[in-house]
Amino acid sequence: MMIFPFAHSKTQHFYLIFLVFFFSYFVISCAQKDPLIASDQATHIQKANAIVSAAHPIAAKAGSSILSQGGASIDAAIATQMVLNLVEPQSSGIGGGGFLVHYSSSRKKIETFDGRETAPSSATPNMFLTQTGSPKNFFQAAVSGTSVGVPGLLRMLEIAHKKHGKLPWKKLFAPAIDIARNGFRVSERLSQSVNKDRYLELIPKTSSYFRPNKQPVQVGEILKNEEFALVLEEIASGGADAFYSGKTAAAISAATKNAPTTKGEITLKDLSSYKAKKRKPICISYRIWLICGMGPPSSGGIAVAQILGILENFDLAGLKPFSAKAVHLIAEASRLAFADRSAYLADPDFVKVPIDRLIDLSYLDNRAKKLLPNNVMQTTPPGNFSIIDTSEFSPDETKEGSSTTHISIADRQGNIVSMTSSIESRFGSRLSARGFLLNNQLTDFSFFATRDGKPVANSVQAKKRPRSSMSPTLVFGPDGQFLLSIGSPGGSRIISYVVKTLIAILDWRMTLGDAINAPNFANVNGITDIEKSSTLEKLVPALKLLGHKVKTRPLVSGLHGIMQTNAGLIGAADKRREGIAVSQ
Ligand code: GLU
Repeated sequence: MMIFPFAHSKTQHFYLIFLVFFFSYFVISCAQKDPLIASDQATHIQKANAIVSAAHPIAAKAGSSILSQGGASIDAAIATQMVLNLVEPQSSGIGGGGFLVHYSSSRKKIETFDGRETAPSSATPNMFLTQTGSPKNFFQAAVSGTSVGVPGLLRMLEIAHKKHGKLPWKKLFAPAIDIARNGFRVSERLSQSVNKDRYLELIPKTSSYFRPNKQPVQVGEILKNEEFALVLEEIASGGADAFYSGKTAAAISAATKNAPTTKGEITLKDLSSYKAKKRKPICISYRIWLICGMGPPSSGGIAVAQILGILENFDLAGLKPFSAKAVHLIAEASRLAFADRSAYLADPDFVKVPIDRLIDLSYLDNRAKKLLPNNVMQTTPPGNFSIIDTSEFSPDETKEGSSTTHISIADRQGNIVSMTSSIESRFGSRLSARGFLLNNQLTDFSFFATRDGKPVANSVQAKKRPRSSMSPTLVFGPDGQFLLSIGSPGGSRIISYVVKTLIAILDWRMTLGDAINAPNFANVNGITDIEKSSTLEKLVPALKLLGHKVKTRPLVSGLHGIMQTNAGLIGAADKRREGIAVSQ
């Protein structure tokens, strides 16, 4: 899709007028108060021409070394991702899936790639219900052979590399092969994740890697993974086919069939027939900016667009940042978006998702009229599009894990990758094959196929992709130039973390690092969550007065971003995790 792409043509005309008018305004206001070159005291920030921002220093450095060899942003993304598979294995890897938003600076084109896991042909609508018809306990469902979707990450990276890569595929695997063979120091987060996890022990093969001698790996301990080094060498020489067939495919299939917990069945055919897909980007104009993200089967792009489209009706810039009033409006807009998400969002190859209507600006203006400035809305039903086959769906209450990783990369030519990838919950299904973990992404489906006699859009079906919340996002300025790449882990709260960061930067003119590290809050159409031990805790009484049910809890985003400033690019990583931005 070309820049200034809109889902509906009437918006194009409107946008052009908008653009001319506001471009002059933007130039004047930037000259007065330029947020983009303000000093930024947050950690891990560097001004540069090319940057990798990712969840682990070793991975970010591997990506950066690829950029220094003349690699494109997609080349660096592949190298970074392969190293993350080793050093942050609890979050993402080739046994999982992801979504990638790519911007080509020479073609001024945004493309989105879907590498979401797919349910195998053996999957059935009631596979996450007990014999009595009640939903299985989340971990009983997740730590099993049935939760594993056919991995999509490598196929997606391969098709994106074929289109946009500059360096040979094989070269991109060298850093991860080297680290797998020679070892890396276990980080605090990995050690703590192993320490806290009660389910790894159920899978002896996986446990023997993370708990050698029955003790969790310690911080600073050197961990090697020879089996994974061999897998990477095969993929480096044979392409993604070396993963989707042969020894690795057989090992994935066997791991699901022989799961020591509940057995599942991914067949060799399920693996060999997996396809990554190009999807239409979801773009919306928000004030003077263009925001683009990932369409279904992720709900991320649509939900972010809806929340911003609703909030455009309010003068957020005129409100004190992170005041009770601002948090109230954002939380309420979020509730409306989540009402639509739970009714309509699912794999578009199986369910007719009314995408254009969900992000239509006049629809969102009408939704905004439901917001009450001094009170919470009593009810938040989904919008009604009079489309029988979708409006008759029942909302689903899928739970999502909180692992996952986000990578933002800019190369010297200005090509950008914003990619979120995941194995779903911490250590995924805990099952592993040839040294890498397998996802539990199928628990992102609704456990119920029907509710109150009506079908649920996001029900389990063979060959279907579970709905996601991953929200890799790009922002463009009124001049059409790249401004920002952002995304995060965090289950369904990913959407809230991304929206918070966008509003903090765009409306409140905060710097990238400050916006990322600003306190989190979320509302997925229920309780308003406030980040524990953050400055937002003082808002609790005021929010309660407005009628919010409030809960303070850890809200551990992992926002990794890159932003264009007048002085060059800056990158920033979320201080809540271990990430870093590395520049060239
Ligand atoms: N499985 C979730 C999704 O696809 C991501 C989980 C997480 O962020 O931790 O949206």
